[in-house]
Amino acid sequence: MNILCQDYIKSENTSKPCLYHVERGYCSHKEHFACIEHIRRKETQISHSKLSTYKRCRRCYYYTYILGLQRKVPQINMEVGNLFHIEMSILHEIDTVLVKKYQNDSIDYRTDLVKKYRNIETSEVNLPKELRNIDTMIEVYPTLNMKKPKALAERWASAAINDIHILAKLDLQIENENRETEIIYDWKWSGNPDFYTHFTTRHQAAMYFLLKEKAQSITFRCFRKPALKYKHKETEDQYYHRVKEDINDRPKYYINDKTFYRSEYDLDELLDEITFFCNEILENIEHGIKAFPQEDSGCWAYSSWCDYLPICQSKVISDTLYEKKSVGEIDVKKEDENIL
Ligand code: SF4
Repeated sequence: MNILCQDYIKSENTSKPCLYHVERGYCSHKEHFACIEHIRRKETQISHSKLSTYKRCRRCYYYTYILGLQRKVPQINMEVGNLFHIEMSILHEIDTVLVKKYQNDSIDYRTDLVKKYRNIETSEVNLPKELRNIDTMIEVYPTLNMKKPKALAERWASAAINDIHILAKLDLQIENENRETEIIYDWKWSGNPDFYTHFTTRHQAAMYFLLKEKAQSITFRCFRKPALKYKHKETEDQYYHRVKEDINDRPKYYINDKTFYRSEYDLDELLDEITFFCNEILENIEHGIKAFPQEDSGCWAYSSWCDYLPICQSKVISDTLYEKKSVGEIDVKKEDENIL
């Protein structure tokens, strides 16, 4: 195979495609993010997030996972979504040592958010309402009459299946006495939980069932983001008190379980589809960015605008808005968490 990357330097270590290559397909050269030569060796892992980004828009995939472009100030939806998962892990994790770790993660995360939302001139912190929505839900959720199993939260799983490497972080796994995962939970924090159906979640479910051979069911526990309107002269505290009451009054409107069983899926067919997408990425990588076209149907999806809309509209990558993730500076493991 000819070498595509212009900065390639041969490594003495035969397991590395290039001297700059670091763990899991990243490149430590300042001009790059993903190691193209690694992708071409068919060793790069596919995750549910990578696949759904690719299906959403090829260009979006290229900017995110090949160039490693990111907004300097991430969209708030993304930030609070991550925090929501940490809070859920605190509530569901069975291992008390890990609960402590997730509690510390939550504190760190909030400290970062406060820093980000502190007005430099006035020193006032204007925490976004999305954060209060999460806190309100997390306060009410434990008091609701619904199953809240204690099990293994946020554990990684990966395997090479056929010719592809699948990587996943499972939100919650319940094991049997032989320590085999039988039941999987996945948390969704969404403005539109109706989106999550057997069809729209099929590739994610398939990846989990392929990784966990004994798993019989997956439950997508979908949380609806509160969206009541403010009343005239209502204070923020009064508003959130009303949100709390509303969740208590209509728990099924706000929290919905969608359970699907292994037997409902044709896993061979879904694995073929996932493999097809992976092979397509592999072929496209040979041709650079032009083989990852813009797909405007993806600009608005999952209740938010794509991070790269300003680039697509202006054809300019603004230094004020964007930065390139530098693999030399990032924690590779954490990077994988971000993409899941
Ligand atoms: S803005 Fe639209 S076209 Fe551009 S990368 Fe995002 S989804 Fe694709």
